[in-house]
Amino acid sequence: MNQPANVLAATSCRDTPILKERGQREVFCGLTGIIWLHRKMQDAFFLVVGSRTCAHLLQSAAGVMIFAEPRFGTAILEETDLAGLADANEELDREVGRLLSRRPDIKQLFLVGSCPSEVIKLDLARAAQRLTKLHAPHVRVLNYSGSGIETTFTQGEDACLASMVPVLPGTEDRELLLVGALPDVVEDQAVSLLGKMGIGPIRVLPAPRSAQAPGVGPNTVFACLQPFLGDTAAALERRGARMIEAPFPFGEEGTTLWLRAIANEFGVDDATFEAVTAAPRARARTAIANASEHLRGKTVFFMPDSQLEIPLARFLTRECGMEAIEIGQPFIHKGLVGPDLDLIPAGPTISEGQDVDRQLDRVRAARPDLTVCGLGLANPLEAEGLTTKWAIELVFTPVHFYDQAGDLAGLFSRPLRRRALLKLEAAE
Ligand code: SF4
Repeated sequence: MNQPANVLAATSCRDTPILKERGQREVFCGLTGIIWLHRKMQDAFFLVVGSRTCAHLLQSAAGVMIFAEPRFGTAILEETDLAGLADANEELDREVGRLLSRRPDIKQLFLVGSCPSEVIKLDLARAAQRLTKLHAPHVRVLNYSGSGIETTFTQGEDACLASMVPVLPGTEDRELLLVGALPDVVEDQAVSLLGKMGIGPIRVLPAPRSAQAPGVGPNTVFACLQPFLGDTAAALERRGARMIEAPFPFGEEGTTLWLRAIANEFGVDDATFEAVTAAPRARARTAIANASEHLRGKTVFFMPDSQLEIPLARFLTRECGMEAIEIGQPFIHKGLVGPDLDLIPAGPTISEGQDVDRQLDRVRAARPDLTVCGLGLANPLEAEGLTTKWAIELVFTPVHFYDQAGDLAGLFSRPLRRRALLKLEAAE
């Protein structure tokens, strides 16, 4: 890969044997991704085909929408559907017809599968084809699964973007495609840095509107913005595009290496790279140094949740002075996180999947200074005197690139500062 050889760890986690666990898991399902995707894709609608539980999850995760009509909803499968007594396809067609006639602003409709729709084997791929024929050319209907049976919560975005790839227009142009749904302000920073180096044209997936969908073809090179986009990357490669491998753009080092890999691909010289990145790099280094004061010398344990664990462990160990005890990730796709593993010195346990009771035993034995885990595990661990960080916050908060590097370190140091204050108060 394109990076200076001297930054690689002498013995890295790339070759550490992976502890694979396939027991009970504690994660949110892929429907969660709708919360950030519907904000990003302004003419899309996400119709979950699911149960009242799915509707409750979406409502509570998204909060109550007051000022705008939401761009997501749930077609509830009733008892009669689940028992096979009603034709769920007919009802779905009716619901979609009603929705589209009421909302002419919708140009892309995603039918999102759930645990119940998978259990009754409702064929949403066929439904999407049928409905596309019915509502073309005004609306394109696609489908993906957000079911919690097999997926973790960030895989919802991966499944959504992967479903779009086969219908992207073809192109022979040499273009850079940035893949992943980041907040607009963060995406703009990336595009601006790359643009200043003379790199372009730059396209993004997902595009804000379906009419701006990027083309893809043999001259497309793409860089993933998130480490959970394995299926999307594979779908783009099937369309002939080529991935630029790099560590993910978290922290000063990750951002620099990610930009460097793209700059190398586009033949940007060192002087230009330096001129564009020197000032934001220096700012990021200062911000991280300030925010990581409470992190230095502390231990961290990652339970598998967001799929961001390996790149974040790289950031915390190399830029914030922490020591990782275990780095758990729901799935380890070395094609994506290999460059981050290269940079983490061997030592921590690398685990994939979960057997939650066994992993909790390891947490209790290690008593790390900080445990990064899902919401459901955080409160019980706090009650046992352990300090935790909710992994889901890392997905909902802008954390990529130079200008957010200090905030990223701050997200991890806040719970440690809070715990230290509580101890002080208790001692007084
Ligand atoms: S998709 Fe499954 S895990 Fe997610 S809310 Fe619906 S029933 Fe629950």
